[in-house]
Parts: sequence; C-alpha cells; structure tokens
Amino acid sequence: MRKPIVAGNWKMYKTPSEAVNFVREVGNSFVSVTGIDIVICAPFTALDRLGEAVAGKNMALGAQNMHFLKEGAFTGEIAPGMLVELGVKYVIIGHSERRQFFNETDESVNMKVKAALAAGLVPIVCVGEKLAEREVGDTFKVVDAQTRAAFAGVSQEQAKDIVIAYEPIWAIGTGKTATAQDANEVCAHIRQTVGTLYDGETAQAIRIQYGGSVKPENIAELMEQPHIDGALVGGASLQPQSFVALVQAA
Ligand code: PGA
Repeated sequence: MRKPIVAGNWKMYKTPSEAVNFVREVGNSFVSVTGIDIVICAPFTALDRLGEAVAGKNMALGAQNMHFLKEGAFTGEIAPGMLVELGVKYVIIGHSERRQFFNETDESVNMKVKAALAAGLVPIVCVGEKLAEREVGDTFKVVDAQTRAAFAGVSQEQAKDIVIAYEPIWAIGTGKTATAQDANEVCAHIRQTVGTLYDGETAQAIRIQYGGSVKPENIAELMEQPHIDGALVGGASLQPQSFVALVQAA
C-alpha cells in the first residue's frame, strides 16, 4: 500500500517569522496523525527556522527547487547538500511556474531529480499539461514525455522513492480543479508510463499526487481515487486552519 502524502507548496509566500507562526498555530494538530506524510515546502529563507519549529510536530520539510550540482560559482543558487543540512527531506522539481518563468526544461528536471536522489532527498516531480494541450487531446502525450524525461537514467531502486505531482497547469491557482475522475485517469496513465519504464511493481510503489486548486472541500474526493496518493497544495496550504483541514480531510 502506498502511503498518502499531502504537501503544501508555499511558493514565494511567508518570511521566516511568518513561517514559524504558521507552525505555532498548527501546534500539535498532526502529532497523533498516522499513515500519511505531511510536508511543508517553504521558501529557502524559512527552512532553517522551520526545521527547529517542526521538530516533534509530524511535519516534514521540503524545498521548492535546487541546483543539480554539489557546489560551484553559480550566483544565487542553492545546492542539495545545503538543504540536507537543514533537515529538508523533499524537494519540488520542475514545478510549472519554474518551467514557465525560469527556463526549467525536461533536461534540467532530470538532472535535478538525479541530484536530489543522490543527496538523499525525495524529489516531488511536477508534470502537467497546458489548457491548449488538453483541448487538442495531448494530455497523455505531454505527461508521458515529461515523465519519461524526468526518470531518464534513474535506477529502478531509486525510482520507487520519487513522488510525482500531476498538476494540470490550467488548474493551478485558478479555482478550476480537474474532476476527480479526470485527474485519476491521468494519474493512472502516468503510473502506466512508469510501468513501461521499469515494471509493474515500481509502478505500484510510486506515489502520485494531484495538484491544482486543491481545497479542504475537494481533497477527499480526489484522494479516494485509486491512482491519486496525495495532493500538492498551493493557495489552500497558506493558512494554518486550512492546512489542518486539508490533512484531516485527506
Ligand atoms: P494551487 O497551486 O493549489 O494554488 O492551485 C498548486 C501548485 O502550484 O502546486
């Protein structure tokens, strides 16, 4: 059985002190929650203080991006080992906003996935189609290509650890959610793709989240679907009450 995973993606919101206040307000809400991984993907600048704040609170830390090299003359970049030292466990890779605004490509996503795995981080790899691609019936083709590219050169053993987030771009921050059935169908297709890259066992082991306007009101229906193992949540993860409600509903 796959362990569900709910992750908040805070994007470029919250200063370090706002992040710590969030954890304070969540308090011990998750301490006795079992059977689900709960993750906060915060801005780099909040990770250090958050690491201390979440200790014993049953929340894991994630970053939202990283460089694929260990170190070097790359002004403004953050290396995997810098995250590991702060207690970070997960890293979002290839979010559509990074693909759209920061020239993230399938190739750089692949390099980052391999670097994250090598550093002991769990990559949350984002795939998803644009509205125009969905409208012409290219959804499967697009997510298939993104998935294949992301996993290139990844061993079967390591592939099992990767989390995939299926995020239709037209559903991000728009209030438009894919129907649970549509989302499930695409997640099933992604799982099948992983199966052709490795084998059925790997496909069954891998966790696939849905993301795009997930809220406390719709998360349960999404997660009831057989191929949806969790959610990557932007807007609705920013308020402590809402984040707690999301995890409870999941
Ligand atoms: P949203 O963002 O929940 O605000 O739609 C999801 C995401 O971009 O990961």
